[in-house]
Amino acid sequence: MKIQRPKGTQDIIPGIIEKWHVLEGQIRKICEEYGFQEIRTPIFEATELFQRGVGETTDIVNKEMYTFQDKGNRSMTLRPEGTAAVCRAFVENKLYALPQPVKLYYRGPMFRYENTQAGRFRQFSQFGAEVFGGEDPLVDAEVIQLVWELFNRLGLKDLVIQINSVGCPVCRAEHKSKLQAFLEPKKEELCADCQSRFDRNPLRILDCKSKHCKELIKGAPTILEMLCADCRDHFTKLQEYLEAVGIAYVVDAGMVRGLDYYRKTAFEVLVREIGAQSAICGGGRYDGLVEEIGGPSTPGIGFAMGIERVISALESQKIDIAAEQAESVTIIALGEAARLESFKLVSVLRKRGIKSFLDVLGRNMKSQMKAADRAGSKIAVIIGEDELARKTAVLRDMKTGGQAEIPLDLLAEKIEELFKRS
Ligand code: ATP
Ligand code: MG
Repeated sequence: MKIQRPKGTQDIIPGIIEKWHVLEGQIRKICEEYGFQEIRTPIFEATELFQRGVGETTDIVNKEMYTFQDKGNRSMTLRPEGTAAVCRAFVENKLYALPQPVKLYYRGPMFRYENTQAGRFRQFSQFGAEVFGGEDPLVDAEVIQLVWELFNRLGLKDLVIQINSVGCPVCRAEHKSKLQAFLEPKKEELCADCQSRFDRNPLRILDCKSKHCKELIKGAPTILEMLCADCRDHFTKLQEYLEAVGIAYVVDAGMVRGLDYYRKTAFEVLVREIGAQSAICGGGRYDGLVEEIGGPSTPGIGFAMGIERVISALESQKIDIAAEQAESVTIIALGEAARLESFKLVSVLRKRGIKSFLDVLGRNMKSQMKAADRAGSKIAVIIGEDELARKTAVLRDMKTGGQAEIPLDLLAEKIEELFKRS
């Protein structure tokens, strides 16, 4: 029996990986421009980190974690998201002692035991960034601006930025009791999960995926209506900052996001028409989290972006970010002596950093030309017996078909010149 990859995972094969490379390059570039430094944390962590850092009442912790006992009987979990681990690393490495704000980004696989569907995987990749030590809404705006700018550079269209404020413990206490009062008469009708959330964290009910629960919460009091003065001020200023740099957004009072630790700002970027899984990025402020994980009280804000969903949005918008490949040369060699010469030539070209290919299958002229075509080479170098006797090779422009005979020892320089000019 053939062995297949686990459900909800993907192989990223040549032809697709090029898009990942370009996207990853753009991510690194923009992060550097915005003053973020990369951090890499382990793929697995102590389970308790996510229980504390993501929240016991979330779908992630309740249903979606890949948790296992290691051989030393410790409970370990494949990371379902990045923020908790970055916060742990921030505390463990005493990064709070650095000049603030500390701006970090990460990229890599995340694991969630999900019901798989288009755009929803069990292993998927996120790019995320976190800012520690900045309380001002300007920091929130800067983070949203980075996300927005990256999407713009990629050429993505039809995006919607949704923002909301989920308040702080002060305003949430009032919201919690109003929400419970609203839901009390419908309590029996809520799904089992939401019934257990009712006392512990009724805010989570607003994020329930069940259709019936969605119906029941219609008209529920929103936290926006009861923000405390501090949270209201923060939210107003965030909108001013976004408007100042021309970032269009919509306020969605119903958005609460999936993690327990959010405070004040929550945001999401959606792409129209990608289908059910339209969120390509989500983020928010988590001022209490570093303390929760055992560090000094430190404000924080960040986001995470789903790489697969960004790539599929690009594809559905017919944007090929990997269209531009490095120019290449294919050496076409006929006969044993010419083959040796072609190996020497690619070695010289590759030392100069020129992408070059040679025939290793001993094919005839026609199939070697076809291979050069398939490789998309701009130039073919043909070394036959006659040329070899004259210590030359034929340089062929694959587009125009124009040819010239060039001395072997001048070839590398000539090719480099041609590539520089174009
Ligand atoms: P959803 O409500 O769709 O489950 P979420 O709130 O769980 O999303 P986050 O934890 O905020 O998602 O993750 C940030 C981003 O990571 C999402 O906007 C999405 O682009 C991506 N993402 C999350 N879960 C998956 C998944 N299972 N497969 C692919 N991408 C995902
Ligand atoms: Mg989810």
